[in-house]
Amino acid sequence: MPNTNAYMKEYYKANRDKCLSHQKAYYLCNKHKKRAKDAVYRAVLNGTLTRPHTCTLCLNVDVEAHHEDYSKPLDVLWLCPRHHAELHRVRRFMARNEIDRATLRLIV
Ligand SMILES: [Zn+2]
Ligand SMILES: [Zn+2]
Repeated sequence: MPNTNAYMKEYYKANRDKCLSHQKAYYLCNKHKKRAKDAVYRAVLNGTLTRPHTCTLCLNVDVEAHHEDYSKPLDVLWLCPRHHAELHRVRRFMARNEIDRATLRLIV
């Protein structure tokens, strides 16, 4: 097994432009996510949005906002880190397999 760090460094050097544009693309792709997160934070502070005491799916009091649609920044689901990660796994699975919510309901 080659040293991963050294390998990454070499890879980065060889693909510097590609890596930089990836970073830029990542930033551009995620700008709206940060904006949505900031909107939730502000809304909770000024009372527009109420942060529940527990996760929607369990009793964990450590809750974070999940956005189903980033164009609706205040349309959030409150989930604990575990359920949040789980939901994203399901979403990724759906995206990878190009299945929609209705189909998923038939499978699970
Ligand atoms: Zn939970
Ligand atoms: Zn989320």
